[in-house]
Amino acid sequence: MPVAMKVWVSTLVFLVVGSEALTVPLINDLEPGKGWPQRNSVKQPNTHSEEVDPFVSTTEFTTEDPSFNNEEATVTNNVAAPPKIIARAEEIESKVDYSGTQLWKVPTDKNNARVVIGRLRRRNLISTWSGNQTYIDILVKPNAIENVTRIFKRESIDFNIVIEDLQKRINEENPPLDENEVELQDRRGHRMTWKQYHRLEDIHGFLDYLAKTYPAIVSVKTIGKSYEGRDIKILRISDGKATNKAVFIDGGIHAREWISPATVTFFINQIAENFDEESDDVKNIDWYFLPVVNPDGYEFTHTSDRLWRKNRKPLLGRQCIGTDLNRNFGYRWGGRGSSSNPCSDIYRGSRMFSEPESKAVADFIKTTSANFTAYITYHSYGQYLLYPWGYENAVPPDYIDLDEVGKSMAEAIRSAGGSQYTVGASSKVLYPAAGGSDDWAKSQGIKYSFTIELSDTGHYGFILPTSFIESVAKESFAGLRVLSRQLNKNLIN
Ligand SMILES: [Zn+2]
Repeated sequence: MPVAMKVWVSTLVFLVVGSEALTVPLINDLEPGKGWPQRNSVKQPNTHSEEVDPFVSTTEFTTEDPSFNNEEATVTNNVAAPPKIIARAEEIESKVDYSGTQLWKVPTDKNNARVVIGRLRRRNLISTWSGNQTYIDILVKPNAIENVTRIFKRESIDFNIVIEDLQKRINEENPPLDENEVELQDRRGHRMTWKQYHRLEDIHGFLDYLAKTYPAIVSVKTIGKSYEGRDIKILRISDGKATNKAVFIDGGIHAREWISPATVTFFINQIAENFDEESDDVKNIDWYFLPVVNPDGYEFTHTSDRLWRKNRKPLLGRQCIGTDLNRNFGYRWGGRGSSSNPCSDIYRGSRMFSEPESKAVADFIKTTSANFTAYITYHSYGQYLLYPWGYENAVPPDYIDLDEVGKSMAEAIRSAGGSQYTVGASSKVLYPAAGGSDDWAKSQGIKYSFTIELSDTGHYGFILPTSFIESVAKESFAGLRVLSRQLNKNLIN
């Protein structure tokens, strides 16, 4: 390009970067060119030469834990409709490689631990996965292990190495089905199992199969399209009684939380396949299931980056892709625990409901004639049963009702499978996070609004092996039964 233009472009870049740096503490930023981890060149079937920007695909994959991430919510981003030239996930040719990356559990009882972790994160040596008031799970890059170990020793901060090599865990997480299972798949008429984490195609095929097989009670509706054009599909199970109350359940808002869609599809299978034998409590509810709210992100975690969290919509002129859909909902949007920095993993979007996926959910709930009395959104990990508010350290006026139901659900989960879930207001149990779907649902008058963080508590974290799917889903279903009993009780009163 001509020199004059070059100068103009570099000045523009400087101005943009410069002004951003002045107004926003770039805590979640990753320095271009210093991205981690390295990519290998695992070939995907039907690949083309579409390149993934390593800066983009290695964007700091933080956490739902902004407790040491006090970004000020002052800057709104310039938004323009990005050109629709995004490659399908299948076309991307390489996967992010997490070889040598470690997961450490760091107790935060020493008051300098959070400060030090925040500092290391700003230096891009670590990222965070999860945490609460007592610990933080951090990912340490291979080339930072020595350095971070030394700093922790110097500061007398304890840590436990929970995962020695993250890539090894990723490789072992989702093995192919054995021959018998594949044969069963062929005979059943759909490919869904709960012995594997499935691609979107299998999940949607399963929903369609159920609608075809049980047309009297099951129907499927596409409520919108993702940024990359994938269907956002809801399955409804109902016997059509006029007195039924309605429950909305979703999963997969965060792409990498694979146990969530697996659990939600397990519920669907339980109720649809055994409807006649089910309890009246279950049959007296119109069930709406949206197993994968974020289909683009979900596919991206299968094809390109196992730890991707956000959706895949780029922002014009910005290097970073994706909005955290669970910071994009329109109740008290833009507040604490969300970021205005597009490179952050908790980027809230340019405005409330700026993303097609969150907007589709909200539009559906607002415009349907279904009378929702409960909204449950499944995430991972940590084993929490959380109710509003998330935006601020506060609770709604009827929080005692939610607390009671939450505790009975947790008790049912514990007796069914042994897992201990902590119950409480999300801002209290974890940390404030504005723009969550549960807060928005509550603001719409849906009484029982819960976010459930499924297993585990950090031994595997997001990379929960497939052998856990059935036990996690089964015990969660025991919790759901308790909720349906409660809703029916409320009906009688
Ligand atoms: Zn999540």
